[in-house]
Amino acid sequence: MFSNDFKETPYWWENCPQPNVNADPIITNHVDVLVVGGGYTGLSAAIQTARAGMQTLVIDAENVGWGCSTRNGGQVSISIKPSFVSLSSRYGAEVAHDILKEGHQSLTWTEEFTKAEGINCDFKVVGRYHAAHNPSQFEKLVKTVGKDPKGLEQDAYVVPKSEQPNEILSGAYHGGLVYPKHASIDPAKYHAGLLEKAITAGAAIRSYCPATNITRENNGFLIETPKGVLSAKKVILATNGYSGSLSPWHRRRVIPIGSYVIATEPLPGELMDRLLPKDRIISDTRKVVYYYRPSPDRTRIVFGGRVSLGETNPRLSAPKLYKTLTGVFPELKDYGISHSWMGFVAYTFDELMHCGEDDNLFYAMGYCGSGAGMAGYLGMRIGLKAAGSSEGKTAFDNIPFETRPFYRENPWFLAPSVLYYKLRDALPL
Ligand SMILES: Cc1cc2nc3c(=O)[nH]c(=O)nc-3n(C[C@H](O)[C@H](O)[C@H](O)COP(=O)(O)OP(=O)(O)OC[C@H]3O[C@@H](n4cnc5c(N)ncnc54)[C@H](O)[C@@H]3O)c2cc1C
Repeated sequence: MFSNDFKETPYWWENCPQPNVNADPIITNHVDVLVVGGGYTGLSAAIQTARAGMQTLVIDAENVGWGCSTRNGGQVSISIKPSFVSLSSRYGAEVAHDILKEGHQSLTWTEEFTKAEGINCDFKVVGRYHAAHNPSQFEKLVKTVGKDPKGLEQDAYVVPKSEQPNEILSGAYHGGLVYPKHASIDPAKYHAGLLEKAITAGAAIRSYCPATNITRENNGFLIETPKGVLSAKKVILATNGYSGSLSPWHRRRVIPIGSYVIATEPLPGELMDRLLPKDRIISDTRKVVYYYRPSPDRTRIVFGGRVSLGETNPRLSAPKLYKTLTGVFPELKDYGISHSWMGFVAYTFDELMHCGEDDNLFYAMGYCGSGAGMAGYLGMRIGLKAAGSSEGKTAFDNIPFETRPFYRENPWFLAPSVLYYKLRDALPL
């Protein structure tokens, strides 16, 4: 199953190696804005604050870009999981509308921003095929089409099982929906583009520089790092699924969940043209979802999902993903896996991303595995907010960021929840 050149690192790092950015000691001890976390959220925020003329420093505990932002599946959608009905019952129809609208905006913003800035990240509007994993799910999907509220219409259409081979050559599904506007991106190239824009805007970047403590002092903050103590007027927390002890309040509100990915070794073009003829990104209707797509050069399939109840490592996750992959595409049994990796997404208790401010401490996080577009978008908003612009306003600003009793740092409820949903997915519901 493993190719001779098998690696336990993201496939994306082959064409876009991890950046070699400054690991020097911190030279400045006061900044206007300190951004903690150098993924899409942090860099996108830094672009805005630096462009607004604020002295901005981005620090990352690891090499900048080491987190989800160079590990993800590169599927760009509207990113909002709860339905209009569910959001309306919680927050009222107007807020529900605004939240979903923001989801649509995050998709168009990602396309327009990468184009306008000349970021070469293989952004392609290839469309998503959302595949029903059983007949009952297909019936449910059919009922959703055309039911979007006014102003939130999604350009979706039904594909019955008989026509499915035009989208995907697999007997594993029972028809599905196509969302033609959803897109694919090379996640590492997108990250590299944001990094370059942040540096050009004047932001300083320091890798291998974890913030270990933050305290408030003199209308600002003191931030301890192993490279020295910094003071900042404003802090932006952009740590998502890697949010640790630095801010216990945030840590109690995000649930780190490992997501696992494999890439196949190169496949013949003729095979790829049959398996995924339209280059679509694919997801399925399972609650514990599988997501996959062709690589940007259409030579490989990049296939991801949650493989086990607890966390595991890329060597052990690879055979499990391979089994599912070859269940979907039996012809792939003749081909091996060249890469296997994982990363931590940040789930939230209401399945929504959150951003906000507490007296100059800004944050955006909790993308629930759908931040390839949304993280850069919300990072942009939170950066504008920190720069004092009214354009920093978002629909998420007044949504309560919930936690649960007895949740501190160990998501003890994760394994039982995954088990429950896996069992549910196996039923014909
Ligand atoms: C395997 C996988 C597949 C995914 N697939 C998709 C997909 O197809 N589509 C989609 O929409 N989304 C997907 N996602 C989710 C998406 O990648 C994330 O939502 C997004 O990248 C979040 O970006 P971020 O900048 O907020 O966080 P990250 O990119 O994770 O960056 C957070 C950074 O914070 C740093 N950090 C943490 N603590 C500290 C500290 N104390 N001091 C300094 N630095 C710190 C970390 O080192 C890390 O680099 C996937 C995620 C994973 C892991």
